[in-house]
Amino acid sequence: MCISTINKYISSILLLLKRYRAYISLRLNPKIDLLMKTTPHVFSNNDITVTYNPCQCINAERCAKELSNVFRQSVIPWIDLDGESTDKIIQQVKKCPSGALKFHINQKEVA
Ligand code: SF4
Repeated sequence: MCISTINKYISSILLLLKRYRAYISLRLNPKIDLLMKTTPHVFSNNDITVTYNPCQCINAERCAKELSNVFRQSVIPWIDLDGESTDKIIQQVKKCPSGALKFHINQKEVA
């Protein structure tokens, strides 16, 4: 087994542990759960706004695997809407299997 494969396994395990810890803390503290259910994470660029609801995410990692310049696993903020064209981001958001990712087109100000 090569080093890069081992690194990928270790990264995946660490990510799962991080998400499991977040899940457990939500279960132990319903106030946080309520807060997260009502305040999804919001990211915007000039064209679109993308929201991420962690309570809906099934951690399939489809977004991170298929568009890693935008949906980053170990960087905060984890969604970088400047990482790819708006069309590609919209196509990826539409593929989210759980509906945790959503988008809307930003309203342009009319002078
Ligand atoms: S594609 Fe959707 S369900 Fe899968 S990890 Fe990304 S946000 Fe979560």
